[in-house]
Amino acid sequence: MSVSPKYIFVTGGVTSSLGKGIVSASLGMLLKARGYRVTIQKLDPYINVDPGTLNPYEHGECYVTEDGAETDLDLGHYERFLNSPTSKDNNVTTGKIYQTVINKERRGDFLGKTVQIIPHITNEIKRRIKILGKTGNFDIIIIEIGGTVGDIESLPYIETVRQLRWELGYQNSIVIHLTLIPYLASSGELKTKPSQHSVRQLMENGVQANFLVCRTEHHINKDIRAKLALFCNMDINHVIESLDLPTIYEVPIYLHKQNFDSLVLNELGLPSEKEPDLEKWNDFLSRYKQPKNQVEIALVGKYVSLQDSYKSIVEALIHAGANTETKVNIRWIYSGDVTPENVSDLLSGVKGVIIAPGFGDRAIEGKTIACYYARTHKIPLFGICLGMQIAVIEFARNVLGLKNADSVEFNSQTPYPVICLMEEQKGVTDKGGTMRLGLWACNLKKGSALEEIYQSENITERHRHRYEFNSEYLSEYEKNGLEAVGTNPDTGLVEIIQLNDHPFYVGVQYHPEYKSTVASPHPLFIAFINASLQYQLNKTKNARKI
Ligand code: GLN
Repeated sequence: MSVSPKYIFVTGGVTSSLGKGIVSASLGMLLKARGYRVTIQKLDPYINVDPGTLNPYEHGECYVTEDGAETDLDLGHYERFLNSPTSKDNNVTTGKIYQTVINKERRGDFLGKTVQIIPHITNEIKRRIKILGKTGNFDIIIIEIGGTVGDIESLPYIETVRQLRWELGYQNSIVIHLTLIPYLASSGELKTKPSQHSVRQLMENGVQANFLVCRTEHHINKDIRAKLALFCNMDINHVIESLDLPTIYEVPIYLHKQNFDSLVLNELGLPSEKEPDLEKWNDFLSRYKQPKNQVEIALVGKYVSLQDSYKSIVEALIHAGANTETKVNIRWIYSGDVTPENVSDLLSGVKGVIIAPGFGDRAIEGKTIACYYARTHKIPLFGICLGMQIAVIEFARNVLGLKNADSVEFNSQTPYPVICLMEEQKGVTDKGGTMRLGLWACNLKKGSALEEIYQSENITERHRHRYEFNSEYLSEYEKNGLEAVGTNPDTGLVEIIQLNDHPFYVGVQYHPEYKSTVASPHPLFIAFINASLQYQLNKTKNARKI
């Protein structure tokens, strides 16, 4: 095994959203399945320091790592495919790079020198890329470069790739370029020209791709491959097809069938004799593709028009679905549409309800109404972060009789602040990176259903919030059947609430979805799907009785 890691740079061309993240994650998974120690880093060319302050409509979900970094959603794919945690070092943004360089300049580190993109910005990019390598934990590091070749924003990154390849030695790194092969329906043709131009653009920046991965709606035949190989200076078998597939989880298998992983290893001068162990992955795929059951789950949220906003929840449902051999159909419900009058129509037929995370008071009431409906109709309900807080608010208003009970996030004047600002948040004014973030411990109540679900009394889960359950009201809640079944061992902060006398009514202050992976589906999502299946079974039984 090599001492210093090998680097795989993944760039994109022609358009954005071609699935560089999925290709990187798939390749990473295949290499890991061959016994290599792999991690993936994402370089994002935007000037935000992290995506934590971005509206989910801009870039989809903000993913949170164990060490509390707010990161790009691609890190979620990396973890789900590789089944190993990422860290704050796995996501670099232009904002972070410039912030560091400018701070150094202010300290006087470059005294007397003009600070420039080359070498100061590129050096800082290099330093960030090398951090993961220096841990000694990885044989191969995949670096996904966000954006599209040709974007002004991406230029310093591409230049860094050029320099690094030269520095590291060409045998120690490769470049994989992902492009789109558009299909012209009127002439029935696949076109290679945009890819040729994109590879040329990369070459103008001094970077020669070793592999071309072609995203396409139709098979690319030998002639097209030969043409691409010729124009891109590569072997024909280095032109890899990435066909649109029914699920992202088939991508690794599809790439492996083209020997992509062994070709990559050969190019890096690493042994490739050992075939990857894909048994578990294939088992997951067959369970996912041949489900025995089907269940419809409502996802009530305010960002539902961009489904990437809830990426990890959707994937966690897929993992739990495969585990229970169930096809989980999601009914997307915009919470702003839900009223007391239409809630029974909107939720009619669903066998479980998820109340999504979120921020701010827009479209909040609809979530409360959905909670009320699920609670009183005994439909399984799973509240995540804000979803848990909403379940708490609804219960205060409609069971405890606390009129206008609320979270101070939505109503600072509420007479009953059942959700209040955490003590440590009180002096916080900056929005970026200041929430309660990352992994925190939680103790589960002995003998509770939650302990049974987790098969453990002590768990850790990832968080991203500023508000908390107001423990002053806890005894009132518990007297009325809504229990705190998970608490932080140090602060006593309520992390999980559960309603007794209901088949499944659970709210969690954390984000279990961030932890769910193909190899390790999250137990709470599995329990929720099982409860929904049970609810469905009872419904059909009762219908038969009538
Ligand atoms: N807005 C709530 C808070 O900050 C919930 C956050 C979330 O759902 N991630 O506490």
